[in-house]
Amino acid sequence: MTTQTTSVDTMAAATSIHDLESRLVGELLRPGDETYDDVRQVQIRTFDARPAIIVRAAYPGDVVEAVRFARAHHWPLAVRSGGHSLGGFSAVDGTITIDLSLMKKVTVDPQRGTARVQAGANSGDIAGPAEAYGFALSTGDTSSVGVGGLTTGGGIGWMARKYGLAIDNLRAVEMVTAEGRLIRASATQHADLFWAVRGGGGNFGIITEFEFQLAPAGSIYGGAIVLPATREVIRGYLDYTPVAPEGLTTIAFMMAAPPAPFIPEELVGQLVVLVGVCFVGDPEEGERALAPLRALAEPLAEAVGAMPYPAMFALTEEASKPHRVSLRSMFSDELPDDAIDAMISSATNATSPMSMVQLRGLGGALAKVPADATAFAHRERKYLVAVIGLWVDETDDGVAHRRWTQELWEELKQYADGVYVNFLEQEGDARIREAYPAGTYDRLVDVKRRYDPENVFRFNQNIKPAA
Ligand SMILES: Cc1cc2nc3c(=O)[nH]c(=O)nc-3n(C[C@H](O)[C@H](O)[C@H](O)COP(=O)(O)OP(=O)(O)OC[C@H]3O[C@@H](n4cnc5c(N)ncnc54)[C@H](O)[C@@H]3O)c2cc1C
Repeated sequence: MTTQTTSVDTMAAATSIHDLESRLVGELLRPGDETYDDVRQVQIRTFDARPAIIVRAAYPGDVVEAVRFARAHHWPLAVRSGGHSLGGFSAVDGTITIDLSLMKKVTVDPQRGTARVQAGANSGDIAGPAEAYGFALSTGDTSSVGVGGLTTGGGIGWMARKYGLAIDNLRAVEMVTAEGRLIRASATQHADLFWAVRGGGGNFGIITEFEFQLAPAGSIYGGAIVLPATREVIRGYLDYTPVAPEGLTTIAFMMAAPPAPFIPEELVGQLVVLVGVCFVGDPEEGERALAPLRALAEPLAEAVGAMPYPAMFALTEEASKPHRVSLRSMFSDELPDDAIDAMISSATNATSPMSMVQLRGLGGALAKVPADATAFAHRERKYLVAVIGLWVDETDDGVAHRRWTQELWEELKQYADGVYVNFLEQEGDARIREAYPAGTYDRLVDVKRRYDPENVFRFNQNIKPAA
C-alpha cells in the first residue's frame, strides 16, 4: 500500500494521541512499542504496512473514540478484523488502524437459535460454540477469515447452497458510523444501511457486532473426493454442481495433490481435482448426492464421512496460516472447453506447488434470495472461479506467481460475468463496478453519500460518494 500523507501537526498529534489512549479500554500501539511489529502483521504477508497508530479496540466505545479522533484530526483510517484483505486494505502505512481482533466474543442463544458475534471473531470461532448447541452458520471455507470482512462482502462458504451467504443469515448489526455514533441497523432500523452492509464491503461504517440466525446443522456429511484433472471431470463437475441437491455445497481445487493422511504418497505433487464436499442432511442422502461426482472418474483418493461441521475447516487448514497470494476471480455462467483446457494447462505448469484454480458451483439457497434484497446481487451466476497463486517463502518476490495468475486470467476473463467483491485485489474502479450491477452500484453510492459523504471509510473496494 502507498504511504498516506496527512496534514496532522506532529506535536499536537502526540498530545491528542495521549488523550485518545487515556480514553481507551483497549490498547494503543505506536511504532517502537513492544508488540507493535507483531500486531501490525496481517494474514496476507504480501502486505507489510506500518500504521501510525493501532487502536486495539476492546469494546464498541473504543471504536467510537478512534473514529471521532480520526475525523477530528483528518487522519486516514483503516479497519481490520481478521486481516485477510486481498487488497491489503487493512494494512495501510501511516493510518490510524482500528484493529478489532480482540473483540471475538460469540454468544449463542440456543432458544432463539441466534448468535451475537463480535466483529473480530472468525469462522472457526463461531463454528465451535454453534455446533455445541447443534447449530451452524454459513460463513466461509477457511477458519481464520474474519467475520468482519467476510460478512460485509457477502460470505460464501461450505453451506452456501443450503443456507445461502453469511449475509442471508444476518438479522442485525451494531456499527459505528462515520460521525462516530454507535447505531443498530436491521430490516427495521436504518434499513438502507442494513441493505448496503450486506455486500457493500466496509464502505459504510465499522461493524462491532453481528447478530446471526443460526441453522440447525451441527453435523454434516463431508470431506474430500480426489479426481483426475481431466477435461471430462471438470466439465462433469461444472454441469452437476450448480444443479445438485441443495444440501450439497462443493469447491473444486485444481492443484498439486497436497500431503494429507488420506492422499497416497505417490499422488502427492500430481495435478488433481480435489473436490471438497459438504452435505447438510441425512448421510444416506449425502451418499446419493455425491454419486454423480464419484461417477465422473474412479476417485484417486477419498475421505468422506459424518462429522461435526467445524471439522470441515481441516480441509483448508493451510490457507489459515499466513501466506502470500496473487488472485484473479470472476463469476461466470459459461466455461467452454477452451477455458477448461487453459485451466488444466496452467495448473500443470503452476509456478508454486500451493497455487490452484478454484471452482465453485453455485445455485441453491444463495440464488433464491432476490437480487435487490442485499448489495450482493450476483445471485444467479452458476460459477465462481478464482485463479490463486499462493506461496509462503518470504524471500520469494512473487513475480513468477503473479505472472502465472495474470496469464491464466487473460485467457479466462472473456467468460466473466461479474466478480465477488471479497475476491478482488486492488484492481481499479472498473473492477469494483463489476462487483455490482448498475442499479445496485447507484443505490450503494446513494447510501454512501448519506452515511459517509467525506469517504472516511475509503480503504476498501471503495464506493465513492461523489458522482
Ligand atoms: C485464505 C483466504 C480464504 C478466503 N475464503 C473465503 C471464503 O471461503 N468465502 C468468502 O466469502 N471469502 C473468502 N475470502 C475472502 C475474504 O472474505 C475477504 O478477504 C475478507 O475481506 C476478509 O475479512 P477479514 O476480516 O479477515 O479481513 P480484514 O483485512 O480485516 O478486512 C478486510 C476489509 O473488510 C472491511 N472490514 C473488516 N472488518 C470490518 C468491520 N468490522 N466493519 C466494517 N468493515 C470491515 C474493511 O474494509 C477491511 O479493509 C478468503 C480470503 C483468504 C485470504
